Amino acid sequence: MLTIKDVFDRFDEIGCCSFATPDGRGGVESRIAHFFAYDDEGLYLRTMDVKPFYRQLKESGRLAVSGERTEAKVAFDENNLPLFKPGYQMRVSGEVRELSMAEVEAKAPHDRNFNVAVYDIAKYPETRVFVLHRFHGELYDYDYAMVNRGHKLYRERFAFGGDSYEEPGLSITDACIGCGSCLETCSFKAIAPGEPYAILGERCDECGNCYHVCPAHAVAGKGLPRR
Ligand code: SF4
Ligand code: SF4
Repeated sequence: MLTIKDVFDRFDEIGCCSFATPDGRGGVESRIAHFFAYDDEGLYLRTMDVKPFYRQLKESGRLAVSGERTEAKVAFDENNLPLFKPGYQMRVSGEVRELSMAEVEAKAPHDRNFNVAVYDIAKYPETRVFVLHRFHGELYDYDYAMVNRGHKLYRERFAFGGDSYEEPGLSITDACIGCGSCLETCSFKAIAPGEPYAILGERCDECGNCYHVCPAHAVAGKGLPRR
């Protein structure tokens, strides 16, 4: 399980991420921002009290954040198809609460990032600090060209602050007749032979190829169309 430090470090390495909130009119708005600190209470962000972001955080108490770390995807192979460099995506979604200035100041002596926040708030008193304190998320680590390992994808889900998560990937039921079509079609190397065959969720992209080729309708997953 990724720790809160692991999650922060990944987002910090990405730098600028998409921070999305309900807009209060049935829609969603996003903007580019970053987490500036973490501790055992969660992940911290700043905004200003005049921004729609602040109002939406206060009204909804909800926040979803995602970002991607990768090299430029400009290389092409001899067939003029893109050569993706290894990289990863991070996403979290959960609940936020606003901190009082006293809470922020109390953290400053123990954490340089909060010290910087206090310094900034002195210059911009309209700054407000929130903590994402209950959330779930996923690391989606891809190596499509299999440069560093023998399969394309590694997914790891996690939860923090009492939240929960579902494991990724589709699954195979006892209806499997062992024909092997799914194994042949899966370019993610996410299927293991057996009785029944099995899907390795941490490698599965949920592309649906196995679902569509299975003659026994044995591939299952939440939200899949009925067959
Ligand atoms: S395609 Fe369907 S029946 Fe064939 S091995 Fe895969 S899950 Fe089993
Ligand atoms: S959904 Fe796609 S990635 Fe997942 S096991 Fe099936 S074919 Fe492989």
